[in-house]
Amino acid sequence: MTIVTNSPAETEQLASALADFLAPGMVLAFVGDLGAGKTTFTRGLARGLGIKAPVTSPTYTIVNEYDTGRLHLIHFDMYRLTSVEELFEIGWEDYRAQGAVLVVEWSENVAEALGPDTVTIQIEKTGNESRDITITGLPGWG
Ligand code: ADP
Ligand code: MG
Repeated sequence: MTIVTNSPAETEQLASALADFLAPGMVLAFVGDLGAGKTTFTRGLARGLGIKAPVTSPTYTIVNEYDTGRLHLIHFDMYRLTSVEELFEIGWEDYRAQGAVLVVEWSENVAEALGPDTVTIQIEKTGNESRDITITGLPGWG
């Protein structure tokens, strides 16, 4: 199912609604270019989980963690990762074992490491403020 949003606020609202469907251990993989709205969407997820902290891109830190919401949220930016080996070096398996919700920007770079039960969120820029957002693999959604 593809949903159209027409502003960053609408994308946040959509993500916030989607947060109700999240469960411990889920992996959400974004597909979408720079500026598509992956970090904006993650901000909405955090809001929906009751996390009030500012959500920024973990471009330099690779991972940001938020543990003040209904579920523990861990936000990755895999932009600079070039191999699945590096994923294991940053402790992916340990994060997996925590029962958190893992959200992955630039999941394309680590696609081989993601299981078949991964939720995919594809965001396509169709105009300055418009996005086509397609969510697949989320039980109960759509
Ligand atoms: P990414 O993490 O995919 O690189 P960001 O979320 O950091 O993208 O940035 C998206 C940019 O696009 C922001 O400047 C945001 O304000 C803008 N934008 C405009 N319209 C939308 C929309 N409908 N949904 C999400 N972001 C939007
Ligand atoms: Mg981003």
